[in-house]
Amino acid sequence: YGDASQKVDYVFKVVLIGDSAVGKSQILSRFARNEFSLDSKATIGVEFQTRTMVIQHKSVKAQIWDTAGQERYRAVTSAYYRGAVGAMLVYDITKRQTFDHIPRWLEELRAHADKNIVIILIGNKTDLEEQRAVPTEDAKEFAEKEGLFFLETSALEATNVEEAFVTVLTEIFNIVN
Ligand code: GDP
Ligand code: MG
Repeated sequence: YGDASQKVDYVFKVVLIGDSAVGKSQILSRFARNEFSLDSKATIGVEFQTRTMVIQHKSVKAQIWDTAGQERYRAVTSAYYRGAVGAMLVYDITKRQTFDHIPRWLEELRAHADKNIVIILIGNKTDLEEQRAVPTEDAKEFAEKEGLFFLETSALEATNVEEAFVTVLTEIFNIVN
């Protein structure tokens, strides 16, 4: 698991954004280390984690950036977005407000990031289906309207986390090739 120690053909910077407590850090932890914690502390200063994957016979190093508790509106600095070729826009399917804030995050992303950035909308915590507050259809419709990829995930159950990263990285790969 984690980084392969052979040569790297590509390094892609991907940023995680979305409201606090939607599961960004746990999604990253699941992807980078296959770990999950139910009582995750607020992110402490770790800027990014990496994992190298093989995509179409090339070695692609994903450098995934996580907000260090800067989720307040407009607190994420432009340095965070600089050089990013992918973005994961995360909400919590059990918290309607986190979905209602997605247009703001998208606006901020579009203001700071490269215009060709690949974006995936992610509805996290599908293991809490009985507490669902955001219908899949609503998110799907929004994603289609805005031209975003879309997946629902559970960092806890490791559902679709890998798929979400593979979707973004493969699309970036196809754009640069
Ligand atoms: P962040 O602020 O967006 O980075 O959110 P965290 O990753 O710190 O997660 C916030 C809380 O939600 C923590 O208690 C996590 O354990 C929990 N959490 C994250 N992902 C999931 C998930 O897929 N399912 C459930 N049930 N809880 C999750
Ligand atoms: Mg966090």
